[in-house]
Amino acid sequence: MRILISNDDGYFSPGIAALAEVAREFGEVTVVAPERDRSGASNSLTLDRPLTVRAASSGFLYVNGTPTDCVHIAITGLIGERPDLVISGINDGANMGDDTIYSGTVAAATEGYQLGIPAIAFSLAVKGYEHLDTAAHAAREVLARYVRNPATEPMLLNVNVPGVSRDRLQGLRTTRLGKRHVGESVVRSRSPRGDTIYWIGPAGEALDSSPGTDFGAVASGWVSITPLDVDLTAHQRLPAVQNWLDRTI
Ligand code: MN
Repeated sequence: MRILISNDDGYFSPGIAALAEVAREFGEVTVVAPERDRSGASNSLTLDRPLTVRAASSGFLYVNGTPTDCVHIAITGLIGERPDLVISGINDGANMGDDTIYSGTVAAATEGYQLGIPAIAFSLAVKGYEHLDTAAHAAREVLARYVRNPATEPMLLNVNVPGVSRDRLQGLRTTRLGKRHVGESVVRSRSPRGDTIYWIGPAGEALDSSPGTDFGAVASGWVSITPLDVDLTAHQRLPAVQNWLDRTI
């Protein structure tokens, strides 16, 4: 199995090193990741300048672009053979509920899925890499199950691992996305040169962490696995909008 790995924290992050080490147990690994932290990059592509690819001493390739750029150029021409699986992470922090809209970790996996390849995003739900070994263990468990039941069609999974020690990990749970409260207000400050500057505030706490959600599973010590799709159509709203808008003009 050929496995392509990316992330949004940068090619130097402990999370991607841990994921590459696990993935090598399952196949031939290529890493193509951003040259710096691009967390929050979502699905952006760099279209206003060319991209360069360099090799680190670890053998990882790094790109002066976004997570989506990395996976896109890897699959569409950079690496020789098309990967059988794209994996992303292990992210430094949770990507649950609304986070998935902003996440570069999820976006890297999504790009593989968009290009027709099964893909899995891995995140450790606490920041700072404490319990990275738990996340690596969870990734190994998920990949082992994937190898036994490979996808017959492209599929996108979002995996979040609770920040607990391995002996406190309950197991794997399939979930739906929960919701967060709206993030905290922007932080207004002043630059050393007197300009008003703004920091985007941190994400809000869980709003929907009910049973069955990713937030709920992780809070009770389970690895949350949510199947995602990219169709943003609000199918249940179609009839109401049709009633309101469908006209000949
Ligand atoms: Mn990140």
